[in-house]
Formats: sequence, C-alpha cells, structure tokens
Amino acid sequence: MSIANNLKELKKELKEGVKLIAVSKTKPVEDINEAYLAGHRVFGENKALELRDKQEYFSKMYEDIEWHFIGHLQTNKVKYIAPFVDLIHAVDSEKLLKEIQKRAAQNSRSIAVLLQVHVAEEESKFGVPLDELESWIKSVEWDRYPNVEVAGLMTMATNTSNQKQIETEFEKVKSLSDHLVKSDLLKENPVLSMGMSGDYPIAINCGANMIRVGSKIFGNRNYDL
Ligand SMILES: *Cc1c(COP(=O)(O)O)cnc(C)c1O
Repeated sequence: MSIANNLKELKKELKEGVKLIAVSKTKPVEDINEAYLAGHRVFGENKALELRDKQEYFSKMYEDIEWHFIGHLQTNKVKYIAPFVDLIHAVDSEKLLKEIQKRAAQNSRSIAVLLQVHVAEEESKFGVPLDELESWIKSVEWDRYPNVEVAGLMTMATNTSNQKQIETEFEKVKSLSDHLVKSDLLKENPVLSMGMSGDYPIAINCGANMIRVGSKIFGNRNYDL
C-alpha cells in the first residue's frame, strides 16, 4: 500500500469535523512529500529539531503545511519551533507555559496549545492527572500568558488490547472536556486530540475531533521514539 492510498482509505472512515494529523516522526521528507501530493496538509512530529528541519525544508516548497508538535516538549526546545508551530499538543506544566509565552512573544505571535491529560493506566511523568486538571487550570494565572491560546485537551489511552478500557478512558476525557467548557475553564468547541493508529475509531466514537495517526499512514517506524 502506498502512503496516498493509506490516506485515502483512512479519510473515508473519518466523520466530518475530525481533523487528521499525519504523524511523520522518523520518516523521510520524501514520505511527507508523498502525503502532501496526495492532498494532505497537516503533519505531526515529536522531536523539536526534527520538526524544525522538516519545516525548514518544506517552507521553501510549500506555504500551506500545518505543523503540530505532538509529544513531550522539553522547555529548552521550545525556541526551535516557536516561530512557526501551529499547535503544541502536550502542555502539562506552568514551566512549559512560561517558556511558550516567552518564545511566542519574541516571535510576535500567539501559539495554540492543548493541555495533556493523563488518564492511562501506565505510569507516566507526562500529562496532568485527570482528577487534577480542573484545579490545575484554576491555579494558573492565565493573564501571564497572553500569547498562549489554550485550544483544548489531548490524551493518550492505555496501550492495551482491552477495547472497553480504552473507551472508558476516552469517555472520561470527553466528560472532563464538557465539564470544563460548562465551567468556563475551556473555550467553546474545544479541540479534543485523542486516538492513534490502534485506537482512533474508538476515540472518534467517544467524541475526538482530532486524531494523530502515524504507522497506519506511513507504515511501521524503523525505531520507536
Ligand atoms: C507516535 C505518536 C502518535 C502516532 O502513533 P501511531 O501508533 O503510529 O499512529 C500519536 N500521538 C503521539 C503523541 C505520538 O507520539
């Protein structure tokens, strides 16, 4: 199967209003170009320097690519992507917010971010625990971050074959998102980024409006980052 074909098949399955982020991490620019020529415009990467290099390469050819940063972002790497990044998916600390604010202001722009919610069973240093997100949002002095726009939430489900568990986790994040909107802690119609190659159909059924799909489009990665 070609990348163009994979994209076509995948897009047939998607409901209207679900935005597909093609996760091109570890893949060469030739693969991204193939997806571009097949009509795709939104790509996600999880390494700041790799994202910067790919953006630089394509900025000379095309003007309409949207670049998302999807994984854990180290504070000292924000500067590499701040000039151009369209959405940072995984903000989970005030330290990171501060750095994004600083670099966004330096570049005279506003940067959209998603707050990462930790709901999966696996131990992880990343993401604000589901039951702490509301109080965390309330504790942040948002006036200090005028150049950061919180567009919604992002999460990853447990890596399990138990479909019911994955569904329960996505449902919890969707409910939290609805609750935060009602409480005026999140803007109306927020982005809900959840679902990857293995679980995007479940995520969409649970209300995801953004999915991050890599291997199902580009094939397996040679090394897992
Ligand atoms: C790699 C990655 C994806 C895509 O994973 P696939 O299983 O290849 O679809 C999605 N989200 C994040 C945060 C990732 O790091």
